[in-house]
Amino acid sequence: MTQSSGNGRSGVLALAGGVGGAKLAVGLARILKPDALTIVVNTGDDETFYGLHISPDIDTVTYSLAGLANPDTGWGFAGDTFNALETLKTLGADAWFGLGDHDLALHLRRTDMLRSGMTLSEVTLDLARRMGVRHPVLPMSDQPVRTIIKSTDGEMSFQEYFVHRRSEPEVIGLRFEGADSATASPVFQRALENVEAIVFCPSNPFLSVDPILALPDVREMIVASDVPRVIVSPIIGGRAVKGPAARIFETFAHKPPSALAVAEHYEGMATHFVMDNEDEASRDAVEALGYQVLVTETLMIEDTHKIALSTAVCKMAGVSI
Ligand code: GDP
Ligand code: CA
Repeated sequence: MTQSSGNGRSGVLALAGGVGGAKLAVGLARILKPDALTIVVNTGDDETFYGLHISPDIDTVTYSLAGLANPDTGWGFAGDTFNALETLKTLGADAWFGLGDHDLALHLRRTDMLRSGMTLSEVTLDLARRMGVRHPVLPMSDQPVRTIIKSTDGEMSFQEYFVHRRSEPEVIGLRFEGADSATASPVFQRALENVEAIVFCPSNPFLSVDPILALPDVREMIVASDVPRVIVSPIIGGRAVKGPAARIFETFAHKPPSALAVAEHYEGMATHFVMDNEDEASRDAVEALGYQVLVTETLMIEDTHKIALSTAVCKMAGVSI
């Protein structure tokens, strides 16, 4: 049985995008029992390719938890082959979105299950369990929400911008199509009502976490929540560890990326803030925003780093492990 805090609440809800989210999720899953951790993942990057439903962030998190992820790319299965993609090209497909053979098998299965009438939550839980993941991994919503990049070249999906156009178009805005009328997935809703702490994994604030917070019921519940809500900064020493976060910051926050800018971005949503040792100089400024601050090592390379950071996060939030 999971210990519950005095208010009857128990367990941790982790909000995650892809690579950064997956790293902390792996650490949390190593120290918390399956009934004490719910991992909710961004689906704003979902898209249909080759007729199949692709959920890139869910897959990164699931593969990472299953120990199957390709650590070099941040997407796909380790050691995957690309025979099907080559054949697709031969058959005339505009195959700019790389998917390995194992990956494609998963997308075939997911698409089939969705077509049979299952929700994305049911499908995601089932596939994760079959890959050996014991902790619940869920999409933020069972309704489609799509991150649309507004650029000087017009509007495009996130994958079109990031993968096909290699982040070259100048970004002028973002919108989360469908978010206004979407709701949190049922297990996510229950977690928001019942957990003793919420953890914002070190994911891209604009592209990975904001789509989750764009769901009206989620934002409302998080703002009104009275449990510890911990942000782990994805920006270390003014840089993103991986991905387009640094450039995105300049575009949307109109300031250089920094731990302080992350703290400002989430103002009103969270109570605790974890920043890297490299960013200690901005501790006072972040505390002045009303956060309780922890300064520690936040770069996660090995599993030991993931576990150490997760342990510090839980301790800070008063979660017993
Ligand atoms: P994506 O969907 O694959 O881009 O994944 P996320 O949004 O979850 O993660 C991207 C963010 O993770 C970037 O802003 C990175 O700076 C951050 N990140 C990646 N690895 C680490 C790490 O080891 N520590 C911290 N603190 N942030 C990380
Ligand atoms: Ca993503």
